[in-house]
Amino acid sequence: DRAQIGVTGLAVMGRNLARNLARHGHAVAVHNRSSGRTRSLVEQFGHEGTFLPAETPEQFVASLERPRRVVIMVKAGAPTDAVIEEFAPLLEPGDMIVDAGNAHFADTRRREAALRERGLHFVGTGVSGGEEGALNGPSIMPGGSRESYEALGPLLEDISAKVDGTPCCTHVGPDGAGHFVKMVHNGIEYSDMQLIAEAYDLLRHAGGMEPAQIAEVFRKWNTGRLESYLIEITAEVLAHTDPATGRPFVDMVVDQAEQKGTGRWTVQIALDLGVPVSGIAEAVFARSLSGHAALRAAARDLPGPSPRRADSVDALVEDVERALYASKIVAYAQGFNQIQAGSAEYDWNIDPGAMATIWRGGCIIRAAFLDRIRAAYDADRNLPTLLVDDHFRDAVATAQDSWRRVVTLAAQSGIPVPGFSTALAYYDGLRARRLPAALVQGQRDFFGAHTYRRVDRDGSFHTLWAGDRSEVNG
Ligand code: NDP
Repeated sequence: DRAQIGVTGLAVMGRNLARNLARHGHAVAVHNRSSGRTRSLVEQFGHEGTFLPAETPEQFVASLERPRRVVIMVKAGAPTDAVIEEFAPLLEPGDMIVDAGNAHFADTRRREAALRERGLHFVGTGVSGGEEGALNGPSIMPGGSRESYEALGPLLEDISAKVDGTPCCTHVGPDGAGHFVKMVHNGIEYSDMQLIAEAYDLLRHAGGMEPAQIAEVFRKWNTGRLESYLIEITAEVLAHTDPATGRPFVDMVVDQAEQKGTGRWTVQIALDLGVPVSGIAEAVFARSLSGHAALRAAARDLPGPSPRRADSVDALVEDVERALYASKIVAYAQGFNQIQAGSAEYDWNIDPGAMATIWRGGCIIRAAFLDRIRAAYDADRNLPTLLVDDHFRDAVATAQDSWRRVVTLAAQSGIPVPGFSTALAYYDGLRARRLPAALVQGQRDFFGAHTYRRVDRDGSFHTLWAGDRSEVNG
């Protein structure tokens, strides 16, 4: 008997994906560079389904039905290229290689083009949900050709998370589209986590609340419009007591956030595409700032305001909930704009509503809120920003007084809220009838003769700043 699909790379993610496939009744060929992992998978979990262990790539490929579906789940970067080069020569036209690791979408585009030349399909797919998701149903974001999706999609949809019976997996678009969308997903995740962390910080320092009390607030929020996996786990983390000291766990953790790079990629690419994803950028920078121990030590005695407490804790909790919701809308609006910009740049024709749909379950940013986003894009696929959708416009309109109070209180108390404040600045920037960008244009024209456009006439103009200050055509 042959396997319907094979997985090579059996660390946590690959092993769990293989088990998920087997548990769904698919025969899975399994392979790992060092065969210890292959053997332990079969020993520990062989009873869960049909695994065809292979010691060598040749044996692995020979055990697959055609067209062969080879899923690679190894370290991103050079190891992925090495594994592709190991398997590609063993495959035949029409077979497909699926990279389910966290590849950069530009690498995926390169690999897809190279393998297409060799008659092979290359599917770069985002997989989100961590090891738990890989086992029990992740959100899956596959790119690649339509044809490859026909052969692979049903299998992936089968093992993905389901929400209301709908799989959290769909064909995202050609070549790098799947990994691009996964990258932006992670960027949004950074920004969502930062906003939640700021909400906690405000309740703790402006509200004087203890972590366990704040955990209760998050639990309550999780029954409302903020309901999401990240809010849920935040409550768990805040409620946790460090067994060694009996103190709140969060107080025992070094306050330096690390990162693996997908958030940074999102911002780098956003800069290239000219998309202002300020919420994601501030989240990446906030992690970066937290990690600069020496810089923080040098600055720790800089003067700040005298500590302030909110007048009413209940009112603060309500204000912070609204500020969080409004800022979250902005963060997602920015992320979706980046997906639309990438889609336009690379001709991917990505349906933003479908991305909201496949993020409703399985992934780290899964949230009730994504149904609202899907509805917004279902009503208008070319929505310029989520902020002008009726639902979100009303939500922000109701939240904005609270949002402004929270940012003001934070500034007056010296509590850093880069996520909340950049979201508000973005909102006000978009709303503004006139921006001081006009003055910037004037400055640019003054020192560099960069020219400007006028509000009342077409064309480009330059003022003779060093001369008689008359205006000429630029
Ligand atoms: P790792 O990223 O830790 O990678 C370990 C695996 O890669 C092992 O199977 C290892 O084989 C193999 N490997 C490394 N170098 C080579 C090489 N040169 N040739 C062949 N095999 C090699 O594993 P994870 O399971 O954590 O992640 C796999 C992929 O999934 C990564 O791209 C990761 O970014 C992505 N991902 C991870 C998530 C997570 O929560 N961990 C979530 C979503 C995606 P060996 O056993 O022989 O050393």
